[in-house]
Amino acid sequence: MKKVAISACLTGKECRYDATDNFNAKLMARLDGYELIPFCPEDYAFGSPRPTMDLVEVEDEVKAISNKTGADLSVAVEGYAKQFFNTHTDIELFIGKDRSPSCGVCSAKVYDTEKKLLTEQAVGLMAKEAIARGITSVDAEEFRG
Ligand code: SF4
Repeated sequence: MKKVAISACLTGKECRYDATDNFNAKLMARLDGYELIPFCPEDYAFGSPRPTMDLVEVEDEVKAISNKTGADLSVAVEGYAKQFFNTHTDIELFIGKDRSPSCGVCSAKVYDTEKKLLTEQAVGLMAKEAIARGITSVDAEEFRG
C-alpha cells in the first residue's frame, strides 16, 4: 500500500494554531486505499493552540519567525521534519496543507523583515525536507489522486 505523509490537520486533527482542523472530506475520499502517515511539526513543537508564525527572509535565508515574540522557530520545525523522515523512510508521497509556512509545498508566503510580501509560491520548512529527500510533494489543493 502506498505510504503518504500528510498534514494531520487535513485528516481532522485539531492541531492548527487555534486548535481547529482543516478536515478535507474530498481529499480523504481520494486517498482511500493509501496508508496515511499524519504529521504536524507545529503541534509537536509548540502545542495547540499556539501563536502564529510566518516565513521571513533574513539575510538571504528563509526563517520561521513567531508573530508573537519575533523568535526564530525554524530549528524546532526542521528538527521535527528530519526526525519524521528518518523514522518513516518509505514515504512515497507528501501532501502538505497549502499556504502553511511549515507544510505548504509551493504556496507558502514569504515576507521581508518589514512585513512586505515577497512571494506566495514558496516552500514551507517541512515540505522543504521532503523535497530534499526526493519525495514527490504536492499541495493538498493540487492533489487529484
Ligand atoms: S498545516 Fe502543518 S503545521 Fe499547520 S496545523 Fe496543519 S499539519 Fe500542523
